[in-house]
Amino acid sequence: MMKKFLGKTFIEKKLIDYKMLVKALAYQKRNGGKIGEVLIKLGFIKKEDLEKIVLEKTSAVPFRNENVDIDEEFLLKFPEELIQKYDAVPIKEEKNFVYILTSDPFDLNKMDSLRFYFGKDLKIFYLTEEDFKKFLNKFISPKIKINGKNQVEELFSKMLTRAINSKSSDIHLEQHGEKKVVRFRSNGILYDQPCKIQKDIFSKLINYIKIISNLDITKHRIPQDGQFLYFFENKEIPIRVSTFPTQYGEKIVLRLLYRNNNLEKLENLGMDVEVYNLFKRALSQLNGLVLVTGPTGSGKTTTLYSALDFLNTPEKNICTLEDPIEIRLSGIIQSQVDEKSGFSFAEGLRGLLRQDPDIIMVGEIRDEQTAQIATNAALTGHLVLATLHTITSAGAIYRLKEMGVKPEILSQSLNCVVNQRLLKKLCPYCRELNKKGEKIPFFDIKINTYISYGCEKCYGTGISGRIGLYEIFYSTDKAKEELRKESPENLDSFIVNPLWKQGLGLLQNGIISLKDYLENVRIPSDIEKDIKEKEIMPFPQKNFEDNNLKKLSFKNNF
Ligand SMILES: [Zn+2]
Repeated sequence: MMKKFLGKTFIEKKLIDYKMLVKALAYQKRNGGKIGEVLIKLGFIKKEDLEKIVLEKTSAVPFRNENVDIDEEFLLKFPEELIQKYDAVPIKEEKNFVYILTSDPFDLNKMDSLRFYFGKDLKIFYLTEEDFKKFLNKFISPKIKINGKNQVEELFSKMLTRAINSKSSDIHLEQHGEKKVVRFRSNGILYDQPCKIQKDIFSKLINYIKIISNLDITKHRIPQDGQFLYFFENKEIPIRVSTFPTQYGEKIVLRLLYRNNNLEKLENLGMDVEVYNLFKRALSQLNGLVLVTGPTGSGKTTTLYSALDFLNTPEKNICTLEDPIEIRLSGIIQSQVDEKSGFSFAEGLRGLLRQDPDIIMVGEIRDEQTAQIATNAALTGHLVLATLHTITSAGAIYRLKEMGVKPEILSQSLNCVVNQRLLKKLCPYCRELNKKGEKIPFFDIKINTYISYGCEKCYGTGISGRIGLYEIFYSTDKAKEELRKESPENLDSFIVNPLWKQGLGLLQNGIISLKDYLENVRIPSDIEKDIKEKEIMPFPQKNFEDNNLKKLSFKNNF
């Protein structure tokens, strides 16, 4: 009835004729839209003509941006379904009036419903359907579905921008019945975000995040993990994603891993494949003790940070005790030990355990108390990472025993010991083969060795960077059996790819010098002296230059 009425008015005003009206009605039937707008679209009338009719026939006035102050908060309270149902949105409230913005002021029924809804009279402002959509986009785009996908993307990027700007480490998207909550974690504390997300937009947002993280969007009842890279101001931020099924639907947590230049990815440390896989396996246990040993300056802390980065997923609660904190890691609660003021490793560890974290990193186990608390924590459902200042893997085990850790406890709690070195790499431009070969102490064989005297490229040092060398003592059942003994023997036999063996390979290939090798690597005294040449680990067993381990690349770039 409205359509006829409006169409007739245009004819009466001699703005169009019957033929035009018929054409417009046919177009409307095919494509939808309001008749006034269709007439504009078909070029039969102008926007001003329509506005004039609106002014004449209704109580509405044309909306200009400057003629009303918009009360955004009031506007956002209005349910999305009603905006779509009435083609109208309230923009301001006064004592006796509600200001309504609509593209359809002719529909008196709709206007009456709104009067009833607010219990107040209306001041109606009119704009064309196109302008109405633009308005909604500008003011409440995240809330309103205008063209589904872009809407969600926009909301998503707004959310991430806000989280990044506030240096938050996590974004939690939670559902509590009808209530949808967004929370950011900053400095370990979760803060509610004052943003309203409608139910259908929320589920679209969840789906969107699952898609870009390569998760299965058809599965809602199982936890899933994924990741993606987010580009923000020319920087890429890796984001890890976890979903958890809850009573009211899926919960999603995003962990923002701000790149730290000093942070090396676990797979880039240069561990050989076997050591790397065992280390990863040790880290993937829900509990237990993961130790890293080596002399000062061997890169133990770097290894622990890389391990934490590897473990740093949204659902895990990770805490550290350090002295000092060398790298800030997002999503991880880090504490600085201060022995002078009584906040020791042992004291800090007790405090941390009261909060029941999943993973604890202890900068260094230096004393009996810390050793006891750390091993007990590792037995009671925590994964504990720590460094110990010893130069062999077995040494770390003996050291713990010295600090009063009982063999049974050690056997049950220890996952692995990584022992590592940083050796000097010979400059590839000036290194020379020692043609005579050199006999290595303890062995009866001669191997090729190299030496470098310095050149322009290495500024006369003969050295070009460092190379990490890692061996691992992995607690297999057999190893555990040995650890259970009061005085375990032969612990070295459980070491995978011992340093001395890996080092021989590096020596022979001119990567390191014999001097550096002998200074850093301890050759076990019980080693068979007639080691066959084939037992020297071939090089490259690992490719240190370009990290031949397949990079754990992020599945999605966008
Ligand atoms: Zn050189």
